[in-house]
Amino acid sequence: MEQSSKDQSSCLFCKIVSGQIPSKKVFEDDRIFAFEDINPQAPTHILLVPKKHFADLHDGAGDPVLLGEMLARSAAIAHEHGIRDYRLVANSGKNAGQAVFHLHFHVLGGRRMGWPPG
Ligand code: AMP
Ligand code: ZN
Repeated sequence: MEQSSKDQSSCLFCKIVSGQIPSKKVFEDDRIFAFEDINPQAPTHILLVPKKHFADLHDGAGDPVLLGEMLARSAAIAHEHGIRDYRLVANSGKNAGQAVFHLHFHVLGGRRMGWPPG
């Protein structure tokens, strides 16, 4: 379920999408916005968000076409940044490590990744 408009008005990533909070933008179209993570966990660490507010992946699952666009765009962005090996992460829910409750994919690359994740 989507958050109320009150919650959205205080959402960090909604503010980044609208330009209220600055970011290092790497991609934008009518539905998707991508920018550099402020606290990178790899040499390349890009966040990809839908412009429309969804709290998490569970909420976003109501729009599978958008999720497909986000996956394809994540791959294209990784390719454009010259990373052939990369990891795509969606932390969904507090116990999974989600800190910002606006659906996002992390595109991480440029170093060897460990498995299993922490
Ligand atoms: P998650 O833990 O999956 O919710 O990821 C949230 C991510 O947002 C973290 O990797 C943060 O470093 C990143 N982040 C938080 N604030 C900003 C910001 N102002 N600009 C860019 N990235 C941010
Ligand atoms: Zn939001």
